[in-house]
Amino acid sequence: MSSKKKNNFFRTFAFRLTLWYAVLFILSLIIIFFISYKILTNDLVHVVDRELLATTDKINRGLHQEGVDQAEVDIREGIEEEGKNRVFYRMLTANLNVVVTSDPLKWPCLNFPILSQWAAMSAGNHFNYHTLSPKDRPYKIRILSRSIDDGRYIVQIGKTMKDEEELAGIYRQVFLGAVFVLLLCGIALSWAEAQRAMKGVKRITSTAQTIGQDGIGHRVELGQEGEEIEDLAGTFNHMLDRIEKLMVGLKEVTNNIAHDLRTPLTRIRGLAEGTLGRKDIEHYQESIGTIVEECDRLAQMINTMLEIAEADAGLKKPEQSSMDLVILARQGYEIFLPVAQDKGISLEFKAPPHPVVVKANASRLQRVMANLLDNAIKFTETKGKVVFEIEKYQDEAVILVKDNGIGIAFKDQTRIFEKFYRVESSRATPGHGLGLSFVKSMVLSMGGSIAVESLPAQGSTFTVRIPL
Ligand code: ADP
Repeated sequence: MSSKKKNNFFRTFAFRLTLWYAVLFILSLIIIFFISYKILTNDLVHVVDRELLATTDKINRGLHQEGVDQAEVDIREGIEEEGKNRVFYRMLTANLNVVVTSDPLKWPCLNFPILSQWAAMSAGNHFNYHTLSPKDRPYKIRILSRSIDDGRYIVQIGKTMKDEEELAGIYRQVFLGAVFVLLLCGIALSWAEAQRAMKGVKRITSTAQTIGQDGIGHRVELGQEGEEIEDLAGTFNHMLDRIEKLMVGLKEVTNNIAHDLRTPLTRIRGLAEGTLGRKDIEHYQESIGTIVEECDRLAQMINTMLEIAEADAGLKKPEQSSMDLVILARQGYEIFLPVAQDKGISLEFKAPPHPVVVKANASRLQRVMANLLDNAIKFTETKGKVVFEIEKYQDEAVILVKDNGIGIAFKDQTRIFEKFYRVESSRATPGHGLGLSFVKSMVLSMGGSIAVESLPAQGSTFTVRIPL
């Protein structure tokens, strides 16, 4: 493995997770071990203490019932029974004269002056325990000094804690063995779990790399690595869907722009070419007039596109003022009335008797209404009817433009607000497909909304809502 790969391995999430898991695991096991080991050793000492106390009880009883000679016999028997090296006995009078004792030569580790000090401490119906850790013996010695027979005698019993320490040693070994096995299992499990989670992340990375080389058509396969990874993959796919949709839209818009620019340009070029061969000045003037008109239309189209882009990006905040929507709408109605009459369409205006005051940019609002009225008249046959209505509904001003014209198929109803989108059947009518996207952008920039309800051959209703 190269050193770079090694470094990468130590920086992987899986490695770090496993390391953390192992460290936490070891720390918690060390804590558990110390607590349980302490409890165990304390318990073992208590058992020894109880045993020592019971033995002194027995000696005390013997002393009471059968005198000091019998107590001496009991002690000697005890020494024989337990083994001279395992149990140490000493009985002293209250003024520390030794009555009976184990062979001191067999217990060189015991410091007899200190033993006498402990004996003195226990005089007068007291008792005390001490633990010795002698250098020349492998095990500790627990010593009880107790005053018996109403303080007349003191008995000292020492016991090596061989069995107890051996038991604690076994516990230590078993625990450490179990820790080792558990640690290995823990590391293996956490490594496997980290790998499983990382599998999803790796899949996303590899999909992103494939997209970089192959195009946006690829998606991350959803797996079973857990909710977070599935969410990440789902969000990533969703983002790709959006980008793909935007790219398709962008392509369509670019195509439409190219198409919409090419048509007037071709017309201008054809006109100029046809005029070049002519000699009469009137023809030149007429052609140049038409070319100027075409150029104006092109410039207007480009300006509208720029305005939409500006409004969508929220770059330029237009001047806003409070105005009566009813007055503004009535002006629009008056402008479009002759257009409607020319086409033999009845245009009706309805508005509440009181003012409907909105805070907006007057020019934008006028153009919104103009575009809707223009469309309604454009897509309604002669003898048709268009109703232009202003309403106030709670905290909204509502602009309704209703017609009984050609209507819009359901599948086109969301698309008509896209730039350059024109329904197939209305391609023969003049227009660039920018009107409604301009309306939508302006309405959204005012914090409002626009909706359409339409049935083919029955008519359409456009509803604009603007917050008051
Ligand atoms: P344009 O009117 O310049 O074509 P618009 O963006 O204003 O562009 O409208 C987009 C398309 O929506 C129109 O081409 C037409 O097909 C459809 N449309 C808009 N308004 C109406 C309407 N009132 N009735 C029927 N179709 C409509």
